[in-house]
Amino acid sequence: MELNLDSGRLVVFLGGISFFLLIESLFPARSWKESRIKRLFFHSSVAVFNSFLVRVLIYVPFLMWTVYVEQQGWGVSRWLGLNGWLEIIMSLLMLDLFDYFWHRVNHRIPFLWRFHKAHHADNEMDVTTALRFHPGELFLSSFAKALWVLVWGPTAIAWFIFEGLISLCAQFHHSNMDLPAPIERFLLHIIVTPSFHTSHHVVDRQYGDANFSTIFSFWDPIFRSYNQVPRGPDGQLEKDAIGLPEARDLSLSFIAWFSEPFHRRNMGLPD
Ligand SMILES: [Zn+2]
Repeated sequence: MELNLDSGRLVVFLGGISFFLLIESLFPARSWKESRIKRLFFHSSVAVFNSFLVRVLIYVPFLMWTVYVEQQGWGVSRWLGLNGWLEIIMSLLMLDLFDYFWHRVNHRIPFLWRFHKAHHADNEMDVTTALRFHPGELFLSSFAKALWVLVWGPTAIAWFIFEGLISLCAQFHHSNMDLPAPIERFLLHIIVTPSFHTSHHVVDRQYGDANFSTIFSFWDPIFRSYNQVPRGPDGQLEKDAIGLPEARDLSLSFIAWFSEPFHRRNMGLPD
């Protein structure tokens, strides 16, 4: 059972990334500054590095924890007696709501931002950016999520669906694809689109510290954190300098990426 679900995850992940790599090659929104092969190689190495660490130390214990919480019947969803599709839909919403707040907190609390900024230090954005997370962020967010699982009590199946969906949605909204404006506008009512999320990656913090939603896009308008860079006459974002104000040219250095949280500048010390 676990093996099937596991290979299912891998198929969804690889299928998604191949699909979005193809789409952004055919309909790119921005031209690339750096070689795409180099970006794919660098971010895939990050993903392989993370999956070794994360799989053993987080993924397996987390799955056991979710199953244990379900067997004990803990959590609000159990007490409400939710089951079937209603439970799955409510759990998707509640887990995504948690991610919205967790992402927002990552931008607000300096200690968490140190780790999350390793993701934002990419000077371009395409589907490979979806692989770029610091293992420290993955550890911290897993602890926080484990607590939320205890509070809400999703079924293990809802958790799996959520995980699959989040990986596809992250690939989609990071991808450098030029979605026709009417489709983009329509999708934006429900899910996070590439232009919505590109705005979150611009250097200008007025926009970078907004648009925190991950799967469903309505959390930002609901919680008043929606602020999207206006689109220019050519349909592109008017400001699309992507990345962070500092460390502008080390986006594909493994050492710079890994040491980002421990940089003196990020600990409030002089360089
Ligand atoms: Zn962010």
